[in-house]
Amino acid sequence: MLSSCMAQDNIHELSPQDFYTESAADSNAVILDVRTPEEYAASHLADAVPADYLNTAVFDSVLKGLSPDKHYYIYCRSGRRSHEAALKAEKQGLKVWDMKGGILAYEKAGLPLQRTDTFTTPRGSSVIVTPIGHASVLLTAGDKHIYVDPVRAQRHHVDWAALPKADYIFITHEHYDHFDKAAISQLTKAGTQVILNRRCREMLGSGRALGNGDRLSLSEGLTVKAVPAYNTTSGREKYHPKGRDNGYILSIDGLTLYFAGDTEPIDDMRKLGNIDVVFLPCNQPFTMTPAQLSEAAMAIRPKVLFPYHFSDTDITEIPRLLGGTGIDIRMRPYQ
Ligand code: ZN
Ligand code: ZN
Repeated sequence: MLSSCMAQDNIHELSPQDFYTESAADSNAVILDVRTPEEYAASHLADAVPADYLNTAVFDSVLKGLSPDKHYYIYCRSGRRSHEAALKAEKQGLKVWDMKGGILAYEKAGLPLQRTDTFTTPRGSSVIVTPIGHASVLLTAGDKHIYVDPVRAQRHHVDWAALPKADYIFITHEHYDHFDKAAISQLTKAGTQVILNRRCREMLGSGRALGNGDRLSLSEGLTVKAVPAYNTTSGREKYHPKGRDNGYILSIDGLTLYFAGDTEPIDDMRKLGNIDVVFLPCNQPFTMTPAQLSEAAMAIRPKVLFPYHFSDTDITEIPRLLGGTGIDIRMRPYQ
């Protein structure tokens, strides 16, 4: 805890960046969100446990269940409630760390928050984007549930049993962080359509294979185009060789969402046409650096950018790299 500092009352304070990295690296970490249930529902840190400090009955009952063996990372909106909560917890002999500046400072620092994003299509319907983690995304379009690369092994806890069954599942390529047969089976119901690249079609033994450039109309208002995804840097082609894997451009009632898959910036990105929302990967050596991601975003010119598939990569410099471009960058927990 070299980077923590002691406030006058001996509570360890952490900057949002240190809170994020240290809690992620700490196997005994428990994150407590001491804001109200309404604030928690709007957005929170991935895996945070709700513990409303202002509701004494709720907070005291949470406090009673805490263990001296765990490390409690506490945050609120601006740092005031979390500090009081930390004092109370410390008095009970618990090990606590308090986020300085709260979730306001955290979001300003470009760190990822668990929340849904709702987009309105040109036809007036809505598409809700729910981050699952890494490369796994859930889209809800009306009563249809669409998954891209659903994988169970995630950095944070995901309650797969609580997720809705899939109408459509898209798989970009065979790597374990994209293709998980058990997740596909868990999400499958009668009528689920699975769309994959050719390798994954062979491995799964069912589904509809698409190659780079193929288009498919899936239902009224829903079409998909498979686009190339590959490494270009010398020595890295082996990870994602050209022609094998897919990115997908989904058009839902005219709203275009591009899931780039595992790729570096490629020429094709300049010729995609209008892209409303893009998901771009950011982890070396397999995909892009933050600088490469910014280069790709400039080529695509989306309205909204979700950096995803970033593992331990520091993504906080992306907003600075793309400053002034008008691209709306949304940080979600796609570690
Ligand atoms: Zn891969
Ligand atoms: Zn990957």
